[in-house]
Amino acid sequence: MCGVCFSRRGLLAALGAVGLAGCSENAATGRRQLVFVDDGQLATLADRTWNEVVAKIPPVADPAAQARLARIGAPLVKAAGRDDLDWSFTVLDSPEFNAFVLPNGRVGFFRGLMEFARDDGAIASVVGHEIGHVLARHSAERMSQEIAVQAGVGIAQLLISQEAGQYADEIGAALGAGAVLGVILPYSRKHELEADRVGVDLMRKAGQDPNDAVRFWERMIRRAQNTERPPEVISTHPADTRRLEALKAAVARPA
Ligand SMILES: [Zn+2]
Repeated sequence: MCGVCFSRRGLLAALGAVGLAGCSENAATGRRQLVFVDDGQLATLADRTWNEVVAKIPPVADPAAQARLARIGAPLVKAAGRDDLDWSFTVLDSPEFNAFVLPNGRVGFFRGLMEFARDDGAIASVVGHEIGHVLARHSAERMSQEIAVQAGVGIAQLLISQEAGQYADEIGAALGAGAVLGVILPYSRKHELEADRVGVDLMRKAGQDPNDAVRFWERMIRRAQNTERPPEVISTHPADTRRLEALKAAVARPA
């Protein structure tokens, strides 16, 4: 009944990933990464997480806004080439400047960011970035790292003993924690820059101008400079500038 427990086959796959086969190369990023979370388990957790999010932050009751976001997302999804995922785009009723994606392809875009972004190109650049997180398998990678750290001993013992039931709850708990972290905590800097690069690739493939992403981030930085903020947020500002420089380099790179 436990939706997040490893099957015996999954455990053997984990052994292979950790001990024998090592990491696999991600097609979207060209980077080797440690991933031993099953896509089915990830989808189950993502569905559950989505339900929890929309229970707290409901979708905006504006069919035109929802249709617009879906229309902007469609060519980027096509460019992504992951028809196996259940892509959806939902404007959520929050004034925050935020957007997120779950590994099952559900994108949540907060009303505040939608209003600030204004034009389709800016919204597309955020959507491309979010799809980039999925193609780069960042959730799966982070969850795998979580499991490796938190339940590493348990998995190692389990692999030796082959007594799957004994550690099932422990592994399930680690997976659950990873799923929650995947939405609530910001991604690592490495993952953010990688999602920016994949997003630029997707915009190009979809026949869109990736300079829209640069213009959007320039506006975001200007806004941060003009907004009264506590010192700790100001101290993170140079990071935004570095991110913009990396984004500009990705856009300047030949396709
Ligand atoms: Zn991101």
